[in-house]
Amino acid sequence: MEDLKNLLPSELHGFMESLGEPSYRGDQIFSWIHKHRVPSFDDMTNLPVALRQKLKETAYITRLDVRSRSEGNKGTVKYLLETHDNNAIEAVRMEYRHGITACLSTQVGCKMACSFCASGIEGFVRNLSASEIVDEALRIHEDVALLGAHVGNIVLMGTGEPLDNYDASIKALYILNDKGGLEISFRRMTLSTCGLVPGIRRLAEEKIPVTLSISLHAPTDDTRDLLMPINRQYPIVELLEAASYYRECTGRRVTFEYALIRDVNDSDTHAYQLAKLLQGQLGHVNLIPLNPIEERDYARSPAVRVNRFAKILDDASIPVTIRRDLGLDVHAACGQLRRRYCR
Ligand code: SF4
Repeated sequence: MEDLKNLLPSELHGFMESLGEPSYRGDQIFSWIHKHRVPSFDDMTNLPVALRQKLKETAYITRLDVRSRSEGNKGTVKYLLETHDNNAIEAVRMEYRHGITACLSTQVGCKMACSFCASGIEGFVRNLSASEIVDEALRIHEDVALLGAHVGNIVLMGTGEPLDNYDASIKALYILNDKGGLEISFRRMTLSTCGLVPGIRRLAEEKIPVTLSISLHAPTDDTRDLLMPINRQYPIVELLEAASYYRECTGRRVTFEYALIRDVNDSDTHAYQLAKLLQGQLGHVNLIPLNPIEERDYARSPAVRVNRFAKILDDASIPVTIRRDLGLDVHAACGQLRRRYCR
């Protein structure tokens, strides 16, 4: 059985031809699935009845169940979604001045074991398919469409490491970009990685102008090794070389995420080290007050420390912003809601 939500229009053309149908039926089906978001072939009223029957026998449309929506303040809503095999995944809807952003998961659990993250604690279950990643955005879009709005930005920053599920993650971006569906510009998409260097280089060669966001979180290998085990495989120098390559290939600046953890990576010394490290990188630093998780002793840096850290970077001419804290009240540190549900 073919998962039709997993297919780009060109692939749907091929599938239609394999059924002995004209290829343009593929465009109609893509539009029904991604623009009109119908759940069944019977809703595709411009398809002949015989074709709808053939589709029921050969294909299906992935659809996640919305188990819960947790509404926070400032327009944040956290979705707990269930897959066909009873895995729980999370997506977050955020409202910024420039529109609705959908933050999507790319895996059930995660292999990367970052020490400050809830998703790493119970390990990895499986990769999500492109259709499941796309459907997270469609479930959010369905809600906001009722309010006359639309999802205008995508961030792959939920549970999982997108570059560890490269093919499905990137295909989902292509599907979400297609003009027959949500038609979200690549420039309004952000892919966040913990630092899988080969994946960054592969993405650079893809030459799609998505924003690359690197979770840096430390200015030295010693500190980063403690926080992010991936650093032992791809140390900071290799990561920054890959970031430069990404910028050269795509013309896009790279964003560096830095979660400030009290007494771990938030001292003046860390800030000066970071400023030195990023000189000449043409990157932008996002400082994020840590979302603490129950299972770890890490605490968020106090506001005075966050501001001081930002000032040191600013004085060194490193572009820096302090990210608005949207997630804390809806357990939006990645993986937290899923873990509550699974207990
Ligand atoms: S921070 Fe991201 S890469 Fe690291 S364990 Fe959590 S989900 Fe995985």
